[in-house]
Amino acid sequence: MAKVKLDTSRCKGCFLCVKVCPKGVFVPSKELGEKGFEMVCMDESKECVGCGSCFKMCPDYCIEIEE
Ligand code: SF4
Ligand code: SF4
Repeated sequence: MAKVKLDTSRCKGCFLCVKVCPKGVFVPSKELGEKGFEMVCMDESKECVGCGSCFKMCPDYCIEIEE
């Protein structure tokens, strides 16, 4: 099963990952990060299917996928 790793240190809160994930893994966290942008977090109750869409879509290389 694929495992997604999220590093929010470069995240600018564009929420492209939220929009693109077919399983709803990413959700707005309602917390501001170091740069003042609203961050995303992961809903651990949702199951990642390893489609890779979030990895491809994130413009700031915050997301890694391990098989
Ligand atoms: S790999 Fe696909 S299913 Fe998994 S978190 Fe990313 S977009 Fe969602
Ligand atoms: S796509 Fe990347 S930069 Fe945009 S909210 Fe998601 S993790 Fe942050």
